[in-house]
Amino acid sequence: MAEPVSSRASTVTLGVPKETLEDEKRVALIPDVVKRYTAAGVNVVVETGAGASAYYTDEAYAAAGATIVPDAAALYAAAEVILKVRAPQEHELGLLRSGQALFAFLAPLSQTELAADLAQRGVIAISMDAIPRTTRAQSMDALSSMGTVAGYKAALLAADFNPRFFPMLMTAAGTIPPAKVLIIGAGVAGLQAIATARRLGGVVESYDTRPVVKEQVESLGAKFVEVDMTGIQVETQDSGGYAREASPELLRRQQETMARHTIKSDAVISTAAVPGRPAPKLIMADTVRQMAPGSVIVDLAAETGGNCELTVPGEVVVRHGVTIIGMINLPSTMPYHSSQMYAKNLQNLLALFINKEGQFHLNFEDDIVQGVVISNGGEIVHAATKARMQSA
Ligand code: NAD
Repeated sequence: MAEPVSSRASTVTLGVPKETLEDEKRVALIPDVVKRYTAAGVNVVVETGAGASAYYTDEAYAAAGATIVPDAAALYAAAEVILKVRAPQEHELGLLRSGQALFAFLAPLSQTELAADLAQRGVIAISMDAIPRTTRAQSMDALSSMGTVAGYKAALLAADFNPRFFPMLMTAAGTIPPAKVLIIGAGVAGLQAIATARRLGGVVESYDTRPVVKEQVESLGAKFVEVDMTGIQVETQDSGGYAREASPELLRRQQETMARHTIKSDAVISTAAVPGRPAPKLIMADTVRQMAPGSVIVDLAAETGGNCELTVPGEVVVRHGVTIIGMINLPSTMPYHSSQMYAKNLQNLLALFINKEGQFHLNFEDDIVQGVVISNGGEIVHAATKARMQSA
């Protein structure tokens, strides 16, 4: 956070537009965080209604010291740094200008055309999904924050759509056994789904391709499902701790094991993902056919194609009597807290980009800055994005 400065005129102006993507309810900064900037002499402009769908009013932003502007054109014209959640859409791209900085989830490894477009416009593009997964960057890690929200909500959906109770109940009308819940993929979202499903009273088991998570799964009170790795010589994770794409033989064994466990589960929450790749198919159509009618699958990987063969991204469908939830962008369904977490992550990241005098600067000696800046000076400067573009 910048020190208070005497002259507001020389300090950076941060701009918070209203998100324009349909059904996007989050906002990049919340009034509490705005207050910290304005108190430190940094200017903040907010488009009218920017926080309305996340329950943050114009009045609250104004009370925090922000200037409210009537539309996106005024917002983009007034700010040097644009703070967004989602990548800009076509009509927003035209509002950006050379030298302006943009913070948002830009998915540069899959949206390479957008990255190239931003570079060509001279925009300093900073991607919230490119933050290194290091200890120092933890407080800036918006992917983890959104994973936490998504995992929590997925467990609630699995219980809500279920015709069965999650907890064991001993009532005068008889005893009801607890629901069996399988969670595939125990990253940030999966671990939160385990914790939430356990709090609801479910009996939970979980599988992840990275054996290191076994201990975390067990510490949350769930059982770790093992896949027979005999004779398979593969690294299941890379040096950054991320999953690698499974070999065909490993995938076959994973599918076989997941089928056995899925069939006896009342709810399955799948979160398996490999960064920059389509989601692995782990629940096959024939497995769904063998599940008990009324069972629920919540497929958090829907956006990248889904872990279940029958998932329809963006929709809730019933197949063979099983409800398959392919809703995307669950964090937007809890906009109050997801915006709060995102704003805090952004504030921690921005501390690396705003100097003591309250001015925007780029320090490429910082590994986090190096990791998140996608384009600068009209060029793509992000190594992984450059490599992806060359291989495309
Ligand atoms: P993600 O969303 O990319 O993937 C979700 C999970 O799916 C991962 O746990 C992955 O191992 C798993 N998966 C992939 N293929 C699978 C398959 N075929 N079968 C079963 N599971 C499969 O991951 P994420 O939750 O964003 O992050 C995961 C990694 O990042 C972990 O190593 C985590 O510890 C690390 N991380 C580190 C930090 C930090 O140190 N600051 C912060 C967040 C996450």
